[in-house]
Amino acid sequence: MKVSDIRSKFLSFFESKGHTIVRSSSLVPGNDPTLLFTNSGMVQFKDVFLGTEQRPYTRATSAQRSVRAGGKHNDLENVGYTARHHTFFEMLGNFSFGDYFKRDAIKFAWELLTTVYQLPPEKLWVTVYAEDDEAHDIWAKEVGVPVERIIRIGDNKGARYASDNFWQMADTGPCGPCSEIFYDHGPDVWGGPPGSPEEDGDRYIEIWNLVFMQFNRDEQGTLTPLPKPCVDTGMGLERIAAVLQHVHSNYEIDLFQALIHAAGRETATADLANNSLKVIADHIRACSFLVVDGVIPGNEGRGYVLRRIVRRAIRHGYKLGVRKPFFHKLVAELVAQMGDAYPELREAQQRVTDVLRAEEERFFETIEHGMSILDAAVADLKQKGGKVLDGELAFKLHDTYGFPLDLTQDVARENELSVDDAAFDTAMNRQREQARAAGKFKMAAGLEYAGAKTTFHGYDTLDLEVAKVTGLYVD
Ligand code: ATP
Ligand code: MG
Ligand code: MG
Ligand code: MG
Repeated sequence: MKVSDIRSKFLSFFESKGHTIVRSSSLVPGNDPTLLFTNSGMVQFKDVFLGTEQRPYTRATSAQRSVRAGGKHNDLENVGYTARHHTFFEMLGNFSFGDYFKRDAIKFAWELLTTVYQLPPEKLWVTVYAEDDEAHDIWAKEVGVPVERIIRIGDNKGARYASDNFWQMADTGPCGPCSEIFYDHGPDVWGGPPGSPEEDGDRYIEIWNLVFMQFNRDEQGTLTPLPKPCVDTGMGLERIAAVLQHVHSNYEIDLFQALIHAAGRETATADLANNSLKVIADHIRACSFLVVDGVIPGNEGRGYVLRRIVRRAIRHGYKLGVRKPFFHKLVAELVAQMGDAYPELREAQQRVTDVLRAEEERFFETIEHGMSILDAAVADLKQKGGKVLDGELAFKLHDTYGFPLDLTQDVARENELSVDDAAFDTAMNRQREQARAAGKFKMAAGLEYAGAKTTFHGYDTLDLEVAKVTGLYVD
């Protein structure tokens, strides 16, 4: 079953259950300063859950383009390291606004997986929120999942990959306990069931999250019940495609194979299993769709997250030996793969290509010099048996050669090193103070206040959030 069939089967299944098919919203959430990017299907329905917006339907279904880079859900660092994480992915979802609740949500999911998609039930595991006896009993007694494959999980805060059965969109907003469905890819792949110490492996893959939206969390962290209990579910299209196409990794599905082939061609890389090709294939989707939705590479906010992803992709191309712009050439293949499902992508093809080419040309001017400095520092450090790259150096690469911190960290990680990010922050703060002082001095002297570096941008919520996750400055 091709990705496009899996998507349309999902939507028509829920349509047959009385759901209205709703188009994907933009990656840039409208009127929501708490959120950097649309990170799940529920984002466009947030106000409906809160009861402040009415819709002409109480059941909806969608395939939502989502980005998890920056913000509360950030998977940028996972890309290239796990079989299941992307910066950009499509989330298939069904939603109930005060209509059905746990029982139907669970039963619909099971029916779709085992009858429409025909997955063998014995390969499916489920988790429920630790105290949620109701969900547990529906799975055990009504659906008939053996209790050995139903796992109770609490709100396991802090751990990087650890399952967490209390879902929230961001630090504030709608939230609630959830129940997740996992697929066992079999003993050839390393990993353990959810809740076990090996759960961050790729054997048991979380495919679908059923969230029982019950609360709104405010800035103080207080939970208030929503006007009506709701349902919000999300299944990663690429993950269910991997299951249905009998492959272990999302990167082996038809859509990604096409992008990886194109990346291999543009970087003259014969070994299509090369990890950098996966990263490039992932990043072209995020970067293209962000441009479609109006983001352009820049030095702050959403634009800086986009810049980081583009440059990270270029660096992987550079690692494969490419010395001139190549990344924008992948837009054509992306349009071939996804233009039917997203006509807005096809319409924006030329603009996306141009924006990415311009950013590439810019970074190719400095990457070579920057990489020679970084490579020399890495070699020197390894020779001395050190483990931590100098933060001042990372700052210099950032300031002079346009290397985002996470790009330098990515290189360090490939070499089993880390970066002293506290020292990086110190250097960044020092420069910010100097810029500010210089700005004040100029103003005091009655000189013209000029230059982007000294502009005061104001501490809006978004900038602060981005600053937190990117380690970037808010001037
Ligand atoms: P994981 O534990 O694997 O990181 P998650 O618990 O963070 O996933 P949810 O927030 O529950 O994911 O999102 C709902 C679904 O969206 C997941 O069950 C998964 O199928 C899919 N998904 C989540 N993050 C990604 C990602 N970065 N790339 C691809 N699919 C994803
Ligand atoms: Mg996650
Ligand atoms: Mg999870
Ligand atoms: Mg989850």
